[in-house]
Amino acid sequence: MSERTILVTGGAGYIGSHTVKLLASKGEKVVVLDNMVFGHPEAIVSEGVELVVGDVGDRELLDRLFTEHSIDAVVHFAAFAYVGESVENPLKYYRNNTAEPITLLEAMRDHGCKKFIFSSTCATYGTPEIVPITESEKQAPINAYGTSKYMLERILEDCDRAHDIKSVFLRYFNASGCDPGGEIGEDHNPETHLIPRILMAVTGEVDKLTVFGTDYPTPDGTCIRDYIHVNDLADAHEKGLAYLRDGGDTTAVNLGTGRGFSVKEIIDAAQQVTGKDVPVEYGDRRAGDPAQLIADPSKAKEVLGWEAQYKDPAYHLETAWKWMSERGGRY
Ligand code: UDP
Repeated sequence: MSERTILVTGGAGYIGSHTVKLLASKGEKVVVLDNMVFGHPEAIVSEGVELVVGDVGDRELLDRLFTEHSIDAVVHFAAFAYVGESVENPLKYYRNNTAEPITLLEAMRDHGCKKFIFSSTCATYGTPEIVPITESEKQAPINAYGTSKYMLERILEDCDRAHDIKSVFLRYFNASGCDPGGEIGEDHNPETHLIPRILMAVTGEVDKLTVFGTDYPTPDGTCIRDYIHVNDLADAHEKGLAYLRDGGDTTAVNLGTGRGFSVKEIIDAAQQVTGKDVPVEYGDRRAGDPAQLIADPSKAKEVLGWEAQYKDPAYHLETAWKWMSERGGRY
């Protein structure tokens, strides 16, 4: 019998690569499956990690992987994640984020693989009625990205009932920050996220940061988000895996710090961390942005024994700034 292996789809992307690095450092054998549409081969930095270039919907390739390796669990990151694009081209999102993973689940069913860690999102809640958000908040996504993930959660519940495949739905809040050593980081093209956009405005890669809306019902009028460090997310995947290996049942957990920061507060913190001014312009609201998204992360602590270690967004900015200033934010 070959060594127990974890298959990580999308492991060459932002959150995936930080998780692969952590799992490998704990002695886990990892195979990454990534189609390289958004992944970076350079993001796989740990020795012994095999990178297979291909799609999660390629049954023949999956059969080969499940036959060659003793795959104990799948950690599934591979997905498209541009909210705006998902509204304009929903079928692309339903195809890639909802339909393609069905082939992966069929392969898991047929090869007897029973554990699935799923990158879900707070976007499945849509505009929450109560903040901080608990897992029992109604899920009512307001864009195709959120719906594509919401639907895969329901499919996974059915896979538990019918095929005994157990899942942990990790509902991420705002992933941010980079590996503190600066070895790997966040490199999206196009880049739309707040923290890298702020730092790109500092380095001059973009002229200025546009603040999307200043008339929200929040103390300073800008949106409030719960920024969760990428290494805390990575840690939650490892803990989710341990939970399933201990016989845990299918469950959903929010991954956030429980603290919210406004866009203006993040800009102020960026000025402190970089010692430079952030050129800013104030623009209109971006469609589909709820005023406040803050996690109640208490279930993750209860069920997984997980809690965010890096609650101060200054740390996220410091680690992202190291990546941006030393590497230009690019692989
Ligand atoms: N945001 C902004 N300007 C930007 C990018 C983002 O004002 O160039 C705001 C956005 O409206 C939201 C917050 O920053 O309130 C975080 O946005 P991001 O795209 O990073 O993550 P999201 O909350 O959409 O997952």
